[in-house]
Amino acid sequence: MTGLRAEGRGVRFRAAWVLPIGGPPLLDHEVVVEDGRIVDVRPWRLTVGPAADVVDLGRCALLPAFVNAHTHLEYNVFRGRLEDIEFLPWIGALTALKPAVTAADWVASATLGAAEAAAAGTGTIADCTDAGAAADGAATVGLRGVIYQEVFGIDGKQTAQEAVMALDAKLARMAVTLRGSLLTPAVSPHAPYTVRPDLMHALACYTGERRLRLCIHASESQAEAELMLRGSGPIARRLAERGIEWTTPGVTTVAHLARHGLLTDRTLLVHGVQVSRTDAHAVARAGASWVHCPKSNAKLGNGVAPLWALRAACPTGNLALGTDSAASNNGLDMLEEMRFAVLMQRASRRRIDAMDAAQALEAATLGGARALGLEHLIGTLEPGKRADLTAVRLDRLHTAPCYDPVSALVYAASARDVALTMVDGRPLWWRGRHTADLAAHRRRLRAAARKIAEAPR
Ligand SMILES: [Zn+2]
Repeated sequence: MTGLRAEGRGVRFRAAWVLPIGGPPLLDHEVVVEDGRIVDVRPWRLTVGPAADVVDLGRCALLPAFVNAHTHLEYNVFRGRLEDIEFLPWIGALTALKPAVTAADWVASATLGAAEAAAAGTGTIADCTDAGAAADGAATVGLRGVIYQEVFGIDGKQTAQEAVMALDAKLARMAVTLRGSLLTPAVSPHAPYTVRPDLMHALACYTGERRLRLCIHASESQAEAELMLRGSGPIARRLAERGIEWTTPGVTTVAHLARHGLLTDRTLLVHGVQVSRTDAHAVARAGASWVHCPKSNAKLGNGVAPLWALRAACPTGNLALGTDSAASNNGLDMLEEMRFAVLMQRASRRRIDAMDAAQALEAATLGGARALGLEHLIGTLEPGKRADLTAVRLDRLHTAPCYDPVSALVYAASARDVALTMVDGRPLWWRGRHTADLAAHRRRLRAAARKIAEAPR
């Protein structure tokens, strides 16, 4: 394993296919890594040097590590526990299970979530965390990314000022956890139906002053759209049952967020199933990004994001791809997510040109990097960028023969084919093994799962 550490002298990663993303696939090339940085991408047959410095990946595709732009790593403990439930009761059931989970359980769950992501070829995550445990998990495993502390507040239990003070304390703790890591603290006002407008405004001011990144679940369900536009539907009824006052904005979620200062060039909007062309323009104009979570949207019965319409209305808009949590996916496999993205677009649009494999791959790498403001560091393989690499085997029974590495990745490969995940020149996953020690976290997750199995739903 240590032979892979690309510190000091250069290490040359050779593969049958190198996918730089910024250009077409390259045959028989190598990526040269020095001090955690890519210094060259070149044909390997032309180069000489000590064999000890060469890592020959064989019939692998070598590409930028995936950016999983929407996760909740700490929900790994809920995988398989919340099946076949309607979206709103599903949120209620997930919330009802949370008190059964201790702080140490959350950390174990998030650490194993981070490890699962790394084993699936992901180097960078954008994670929304309620318990804060994603910071511990992602830092332990060595992922890069942004950890958004979630904020909830639809009732009047806390004033906006009190909620912001509580957030400030959580972010201070998170900053200590993330010290020395490749992760940045940020803020996630959860959704327009869980955060009051005055609190949204306060969070816009707080994050604006500190230039913190933002992430919001937006335009996910039909129920959310009904609540925003007409003040009716299941979410409206639920708020009324809880005695919560709701003033119908009468506009889409995107317009509502813009009105309250949350649509910025630091904003990542998650889902975008219920969106208009006007919304697409507003998001692109603001310099915000969408992250598409096709599998979670399908599993929860929320529909298919109209990506073809967004692209037609606004070709400059940026699109990222995310798995969402293991509670609604049920995995953190970006290869499968790319496949779902393309197939769902084609199935719902009934057109072969609705989306293609190369577009899905770009969303899963460079699109994610742009969405997090990290495109100067990651997202493509080119000299000067950090060495965040993934190698995926394309010589297995279910992937061979390989006529085109991009289509093989998107239509045939899965997380189980990932041979290497490297972040900043450090291997996190290599030939079926993690570099992080996970034994204690596995034991803790098993114990937590026993409690979750018995908890009332
Ligand atoms: Zn989410």
